Order: sequence, then C-alpha cells, then structure tokens
Amino acid sequence: MSLSEQFSWISPSLPETITRQQYPAGTLYVVATPIGNTGDISLRALYLLNLADAIACEDTRNTAQLLNLYGLQKPLIAAHQHNEREIAQKIAERLQAGERIALVSDAGTPGVSDPGARIVDELRNQGLPVIALPGASAAITALSASGFTDDQFQFVGFLPSKAGQRKEVLQGCVNTSATQIFYEAPHRIHDTIAAMLEVFGPQRRIVLARELTKLFEESQRCTLAEAGAWLKADKHREKGEYVLLIEGLPAQQDSGMQEAQRILGILLESCSVSQAASLAAAITGQKKNNLYQLALSLQSEDDEAAG
Ligand code: SAM
Repeated sequence: MSLSEQFSWISPSLPETITRQQYPAGTLYVVATPIGNTGDISLRALYLLNLADAIACEDTRNTAQLLNLYGLQKPLIAAHQHNEREIAQKIAERLQAGERIALVSDAGTPGVSDPGARIVDELRNQGLPVIALPGASAAITALSASGFTDDQFQFVGFLPSKAGQRKEVLQGCVNTSATQIFYEAPHRIHDTIAAMLEVFGPQRRIVLARELTKLFEESQRCTLAEAGAWLKADKHREKGEYVLLIEGLPAQQDSGMQEAQRILGILLESCSVSQAASLAAAITGQKKNNLYQLALSLQSEDDEAAG
C-alpha cells in the first residue's frame, strides 16, 4: 500500500495548512529531528527540509542517512561544537544571498545539550531571522510521562563528570519544588544515581527514562532508594540513553525550607553541621536528613567563599 493510501484518512486540507505558513527566504530554520523512532518527525519539518537550500548538521553522515530515509537529498554543511562561530559566518553570507538554511543536530532539538545555540546567537546578533520548527526533545518527552505535577521544571542537562563538581551541582537542586531534569550517559548512570541518593535522600522520587521512542524504551518511576536495584535488575540497563527526572519538594515544604535555610545559616555560625541540622529540624519540623544535606551545601559554599 502506498504512503498516500495508508494516510488517506488525513484531511486533504492538511497540506494547505502546512504550506500556508510563511517560510521567508534569507532565514535560518532550526528543525528538531527524532530522538529514536524516525517516524517522530513533523510533516512541516519534512516540508521545510525539502524547501531548504542546504542543511547545517552536527554529523553529515547521520543526517545524510536520516534524509535518505525521508527520500530527501540536500547539500550538507558540517556544523559541530568546534566550528559553530565560523560556520555561523558562512551561513550568514548565504542567508544574506536569500537562501533558506535548515539547522539540525544528530537527534532532538538543536541547542538543547547539542550544537546550535552559538550559530543562532551570531545570526541574531547580525539581525538575521531565525525560525524554529518544534519537535522531539528527550527532556520534554520524559517529563510529559513522569506525572510529576509541579508547574515548574529546571533543565540541568549533563552533570559534570568529576564527582565533587557533580555533587555540588546536585546540592544546588535539592531545595526547590521544580522538577529537575538531567541527561546522563550510560557509563555514568550508577555513579550518578548513587550521588543523587546521597544528596536528595532515599525517599525522593525519580523517573529513569531510558531509550525513549526506541524499541526497548522504559520509563521507571520509583524512590531513589529503589533506583539502584532497578538498574541492576537487567544488564541492558547499563546501556542506552537516559533522562533522569527528580521530583521537586512539595511547594509548602519548599517555602518551609527557605525558612529552614535562614535558620540553618544562623546556627552554622556557632554549631557543627550535625548540631545545626538537629536544632533546625526541631525548630522548623523539616526532615533532619534534608536539613543535614542543606547544611552541608551551605557550609561548602561558605568554605569556597572563604577561599
Ligand atoms: N538535543 C537533544 C534533545 O533535544 O533531547 C539532546 C542531545 S544530548 C547530546 C543527548 C542526551 O539526550 C543523551 O545522552 C540522553 O541523556 C538524552 N537522550 C537523547 N535521546 C534519548 C532517548 N531516546 N532516550 C533517553 N534519553 C535520550
């Protein structure tokens, strides 16, 4: 059965909706591509990629393969993290000549833990137009299936690889009601979960979203105390791509923690971390373990400030 027959139930007005939109010449189009399943590309993205004069991409081999799957052939411009500023200049010249250039990364949304932002920055600095075509991003895909309900989220992206720096970043994420979103590589997943357990405590909930939109995708929601056992239960879980979501504190606890932080700050001037946490827990009713982690991070901030 041909593609048009398979999709014969689609309203004939859809192509018109896509083409009625303006696609001005002399513009950079930032186009999201799939994060796994190659079916997750929008019709508008396909239309635009076909319309573009050239496609700037992170890895020309990957993009050529993807385009081939969609029956497209286009001149490709290599635009990776090491040449973004120079390439921006070349793209600027082509836009000034009236071309439409598309910008894609290997997977997902360009500029989200991927090259692209410097090119866009440079073009905007030169007053050149940039239009985004939305699509897949691993962070939002994982978030939408998490059920973590606070209205706010914070995208942290990749944590530093050094243990000390990683812990410091995590400590900065402890006392907020916003869901925290991390990207992680499989070879660091065990260490990262162990560090999260230490910093957020065993009861905090996590979603481990693995291989999203791919054949063996999984999205496990559990407490941090349970996450290590889930990882070890299947050796395949040491491979693949991960998004980790940490649930924020309940909003009430969030404002309670702000007060607790103020009290801890005063107590730490004359007490040890452990004493300050115990006293602050007794005064505020907050959990001692949470306050202990907070006191540790406050003290390390103070130590750094003192040099
Ligand atoms: N620009 C991409 C986006 O919009 O999501 C992110 C690119 S970043 C270089 C790659 C990281 O994104 C991976 O290490 C992983 O943490 C996450 N990621 C990408 N695809 C994923 C998938 N299918 N399942 C889970 N995580 C994924």
